[in-house]
Amino acid sequence: MARSARQTTLARPVTKEGIGLHSGAPAAVTLAPAEADSGIVIATESGGEIPANADWVVSTERATTLGRDHAEARGVEHLLAALWAMGVDNARIVLRGPETPACDGSARPWAELIARAGRRRLAAPRTVHRIAEPVWVTGKGSWAAALPAERLALAVAVEYPGSAAGAQAVWLELTGARFAAELAPARTFCLEREYQALLASGLAKGGGAENAFVVKEDGYSGELRFPDEVVRHKALDLVGDLSLCGFRFVGQVIAVRPSHHLNVRLASALRERRSAGSRK
Ligand SMILES: [Zn+2]
Repeated sequence: MARSARQTTLARPVTKEGIGLHSGAPAAVTLAPAEADSGIVIATESGGEIPANADWVVSTERATTLGRDHAEARGVEHLLAALWAMGVDNARIVLRGPETPACDGSARPWAELIARAGRRRLAAPRTVHRIAEPVWVTGKGSWAAALPAERLALAVAVEYPGSAAGAQAVWLELTGARFAAELAPARTFCLEREYQALLASGLAKGGGAENAFVVKEDGYSGELRFPDEVVRHKALDLVGDLSLCGFRFVGQVIAVRPSHHLNVRLASALRERRSAGSRK
């Protein structure tokens, strides 16, 4: 069963510049309109084109990275979350540099950029699928499921024992407005004990107080945007990774201690279930 409206794209191209969180290298993204049924496609400097779906995920180590042939796009989840949640069906993401700009570590700058571009309706119908039966994946101490429901809603729970974050949970119906207000501003974080290891490994070269916060045993490295910013950021990451299923759906998604790896596995499972269903 599917509900239909019309597909959308961006009304005009928009560009954002910055530095990559992991590489520290200059990075820029141009979001450009695209025709109906083209979906979200990432064009890299090497000339490669990568469809933004789970088939092209090459790494989920601290960020979600898509790759195809020699083209690679690192850290795309915040941008993809904003496009998906704000109802942009078709867009071309032109990437300069190896990853997306870190911005302030949240999806708020992307949400603002998309709002600035505006949306344009296309003639082609949009299909919104219903989750017909539970789809779930399990990991080490974690699980995620998509269940039948009338609307798209997320429930996310995390637990960081021995840290200020402790146990947190968030539930919301995912609309563009609620995404922009309640999830998009939540910034990237890391646990204090991971922080030194990250620096030593050469990752997070572009990381700093302006685009991430550190969760300590007894507090945080700076002021928070929400008391439960940690779980809200995990929900934001989940939205971006879920978008890699490559279609729109209504259903209740529940994720307990999610990771990029687990999220992408759920997106893949939804993708497989859908293509199995369409072969019937
Ligand atoms: Zn993130």
